[in-house]
Amino acid sequence: MKKLLALLFMLALASCPVMADEQPVIQPSPGDVQLGTLHALNNVTAIAEGHTLALCGCGMEFEVTDASPKLEMNGTTFYCCSQACHDHASKASAEESATSMAEWQKVFSGKGTLTNAAMVDGKNMATCACGQTFEVTSKSPCVAENGMKMSACCDGCANHVIKTTPEERSAMMKKVMKTAAMTK
Ligand SMILES: [Zn+2]
Ligand SMILES: [Zn+2]
Repeated sequence: MKKLLALLFMLALASCPVMADEQPVIQPSPGDVQLGTLHALNNVTAIAEGHTLALCGCGMEFEVTDASPKLEMNGTTFYCCSQACHDHASKASAEESATSMAEWQKVFSGKGTLTNAAMVDGKNMATCACGQTFEVTSKSPCVAENGMKMSACCDGCANHVIKTTPEERSAMMKKVMKTAAMTK
């Protein structure tokens, strides 16, 4: 009997390192804005009265100036609040940046108010750049840039918006934003 217990104990011990080796997977909770489909072209959260705010990888929202250090990460122009944050981000390993990007996306998704989606009869409805009105689901791709978040009806539309020039994209996104401040 003692031998069996010892064996079980050994088995339990042996299984521990396997658990520890697994990469922590950050799963969005059901209430979160879906993260996997966010295409952030920059980390700007808001532009108002000539001031540009961005969300740094450290979690701090700060005003972007010409002096703000920035870096390119997977197609995102990432403004940093300080040189220290910039250096930290540029030195991060692929895994480290994946983890911090997932955390950052979570916070970023909750920032800003400019979006093309609005609740209609209990459904989150949005107007896509293509003109189609659709219900935003956890699978809807979302393009974010300059404080605007635009959910697209399909990946094709999202990619189309991403690939246009910044000027065209800005016009396309502004056109579908539901917030009153952007309609002028
Ligand atoms: Zn920072
Ligand atoms: Zn569309």
